[in-house]
Formats: sequence, C-alpha cells, structure tokens
Amino acid sequence: MELRVLGCSGGEAEGSRLTGLLVNGTVAIDAGSLTQALTLAEQVKVRQIFISHSHLDHICTLPFFTKNIFGHTQVPVEIHALPETLDALRRHLFNDELWPDFSVIPSPDNPIIRFSEIEPGRTYEVEGLRVTPIPVNHLVPCVGYRVEDDHSAFIFSSDTAATDRVYEEANATANLRLFITEASFPNAQAWLADAAKHLTPEKLGEELRKLKVDVPVGIYHLTPGDREVMLPELSALGDPRLTLLEQDARFEW
Ligand SMILES: [Zn+2]
Ligand SMILES: [Zn+2]
Repeated sequence: MELRVLGCSGGEAEGSRLTGLLVNGTVAIDAGSLTQALTLAEQVKVRQIFISHSHLDHICTLPFFTKNIFGHTQVPVEIHALPETLDALRRHLFNDELWPDFSVIPSPDNPIIRFSEIEPGRTYEVEGLRVTPIPVNHLVPCVGYRVEDDHSAFIFSSDTAATDRVYEEANATANLRLFITEASFPNAQAWLADAAKHLTPEKLGEELRKLKVDVPVGIYHLTPGDREVMLPELSALGDPRLTLLEQDARFEW
C-alpha cells in the first residue's frame, strides 16, 4: 500500500494544505487539498473519495476537482460519506448556487460524481483496499477510517475530541502501521478545543493511553499559527510513538 499525505494542516496558508490522504493513487480520504497537491493527470486517476465529515477543510476542493475531471472520465467518481455529510454536500455545496450539481451532470444516469452512503462499522472493498468507517466525536457527524490491504493497515481518526471506538479498532487491527490523529489547539485553548470538539496536546496525551499498540502516531490538524507553541507541548508528552505528520510524506508498506 502506498499512502501519500496531500495535506494535513488544520488551516490553510502558503505551504500548508488542508486535510487529504491518497492511497495507491486512486482512493482519497478527505478532499481538503486534491487540486493543490495533485497534477491534473493524477486527479483523473482518483476513483473513490471517502469523506470524514462536512467541515469545509475536508471537502473544499471537491468542486474544483469535479470540474477538472469533467470530460476526462467515463465512470463516475464515487463520493462515500455518512448520510448527514452527503445531505450537507447536496444542500450547501452542489446545489447549483455555490457550484453545479455534478451528481446529475452531464446526465443523472452518467454523472461525474456519484454520492454513496456509508454505514459506520461496515467494510467497503474498493480498488483492492478494505475501507472501514469508524464513528468519532466531533461537532458534526464524523467518521475516521481504517484502510487495509492483505499486508498492512493504517487508521485515520479525522477530527475528534475524546473518543473510544477508534482506539479499540486500532488495538484490534492486525498489521497496523500508522495511527493518524489530531491536535488542533494549544493547551491554553482547551476551552476552544472543548467547544469545537478537537484535542489539545494535553488531551491527546490522555487519549493515547487508550492506544495499546506500539505504532507510529502521526499528528495532524495543527493550527498553522499555533505550531510553535504546540510543538513543545507535543514533545512534553514524552510518547516515543508520536511524530508530526508531514505534508507530501509517502509511506509504503
Ligand atoms: Zn471538523
Ligand atoms: Zn478539520
């Protein structure tokens, strides 16, 4: 399996792209940076997109992506997400006001994108991968994902406050190579993390006690302007599994 980090920042600025992962060149997890990180030729190869939740930083390149692939694909790209997330995409984004409804263009029978509802806990087999949504604890309905093939697996928690299931799944996943989770705000902004259902480094430290396996933990979703404050706070946790997930990193297992 090849995992490519297209973006992993909790905010956008030059050099900091929003959340997006690409597996084997064809399956994307979240769409915060598809069009900034990938060439046009690479974008056309993306066949399946699993969305964690409706927040803009995880979906914002979907409109430009659909326009880019228009005329270059014979088969609709599948957009997998919770029913609540798909509802938000239909009502607020692909509504012909903010962007054309590419789920019926050029025709309802043969559109550019097709929305596909997912159910937490079910496993979806796509492009030789098994993708399992795992419910987490965020401001809106949100799932993390376990992605696996016959040799290796990784888990992406997406945005979440304190949660249990994703750790239980991680502890039970054979061949787990990487656990990706978030830290969004510095310790001094614990109130904001609580209100927005995110983690601070300190709260992350409590969460990681639930992770019983010795795998690298890649931290993502730092607020760019708070990086300098948060890096020492993350180091202070003293957890040797912790690493910072880096944009453009590639993992091969
Ligand atoms: Zn969010
Ligand atoms: Zn986010």
